Amino acid sequence: MGLTGLDIYKQLPKKNCGECGPPTCLAFAMALASGKAALDSCPYVTDAAKENLGAASAPPIRMVKVGTGDVAVSLGDETVIFRHDKTFFHETGVAIEVSDKLTAADIDAKVAKINGLTFERVGLHYTVNLVAVKNESGNADTFKAAVDKVAAGTKFPLILMTDDPEAMDKAAAGVAAARPLLYAATTGNFDKMVEVAKKHSCPLAIRGNGLDEAAALAEKAVAGGCKDLVIDAGRREFSAALADLTEIRRLAIKKKFRPLGFPTIAFPRSDEPYMEILQASYYVGKYASIVVVKTAEKAHILPLLTWRQNIYTDPQKPIQVEPKLHEVGAVTNDSPVYITTNFSLTYYTVEGEVAGSKIPAYILPVNTDGTSVLTAWASGKFSAESIAEAIKSSGLEQKVNHRNLVLPGYVAVLSGKLAELSGWKVGVGPREAAGIPSFAKAKFAS
Ligand code: SF4
Repeated sequence: MGLTGLDIYKQLPKKNCGECGPPTCLAFAMALASGKAALDSCPYVTDAAKENLGAASAPPIRMVKVGTGDVAVSLGDETVIFRHDKTFFHETGVAIEVSDKLTAADIDAKVAKINGLTFERVGLHYTVNLVAVKNESGNADTFKAAVDKVAAGTKFPLILMTDDPEAMDKAAAGVAAARPLLYAATTGNFDKMVEVAKKHSCPLAIRGNGLDEAAALAEKAVAGGCKDLVIDAGRREFSAALADLTEIRRLAIKKKFRPLGFPTIAFPRSDEPYMEILQASYYVGKYASIVVVKTAEKAHILPLLTWRQNIYTDPQKPIQVEPKLHEVGAVTNDSPVYITTNFSLTYYTVEGEVAGSKIPAYILPVNTDGTSVLTAWASGKFSAESIAEAIKSSGLEQKVNHRNLVLPGYVAVLSGKLAELSGWKVGVGPREAAGIPSFAKAKFAS
């Protein structure tokens, strides 16, 4: 990059307004110099400064979009190697492979399965992101027919997988407006594949035989006018692929090595689905932008998406539920009231157990900035005062005609003061949410 934090600072507006994230322009300049921020986070930077800062303002890993509209998948644009250094921004796109050797009916069946791979968990919506159509038949017409069929059956963006530029051209012609990823340009088909990508204005994947070749091909593609690239270093053996993905991320972030400053794609290879998902999980952690798997079974995919969610949750912003009164089941004004915190994992665990008790109830998650019961208690966010205030502001007093609440067992120590401050009778519930059904049956079953 060449520019120091001070070089960059000189060109910033010096408002010290903090809108870019860091509190001052100098802190932002330092973050920019170390690749931990992007220049466009400052809304006040002038066009002249943008031009002067040149490469310093470009993200170390280019952002590439596959697909269009609501389902478009944004890849790359990451600024750190370790999630706890800042956060990861664009979660790994999970793609499910569909072979063009399948019969039309089997393609329909697999696409229907893929469309059904959506899940609700801890208040979040999980889904796969892409469908990769693979030209295993070796026939351009068969490939095109499969691509058209898949495109007609799903809203997910496509990856077109063939090394044959003519087959790619034919298949891409019908779906180019939806901006599929074309996989892949290699040393054997490079010039023609780059032409196809340019002709259809689609992002292009580069497959090298190792990192050096991948970098050389990427440089050549950029020079030839293809800038939206995805890198595959080519090695398929698990540990080698993992090492390549890690090296690409390091070179892009630490060394600002532009030829490998692109999103990556990885292909777990195992005929045993759980092993395939295990490999995919490693690739999600380090550092694939897309993983392509063959299995489309819910039981295989859910753990992968759950793992991805964990990796891509901002460590500084725990997932939270709205701190308002929640109703579980057909509540009445006699229903019990449970108190918990607004950390999603805590809340939804409690909610699941309350629902399992089959006794309708209110749950009041107190705003603890998304921290769990003990963490929030230790930091003073889950206190008698904050719970009493939440009871008042939630409208709970108008919803029930009793004044009894259930406090998590771990914070039984708060019960006396809470009773004093709120005027409610405070019962101590189980320490673990798993104890709620038996607790509820013993206390509230009529
Ligand atoms: S948003 Fe721009 S002006 Fe404001 S602190 Fe950040 S760099 Fe400075």
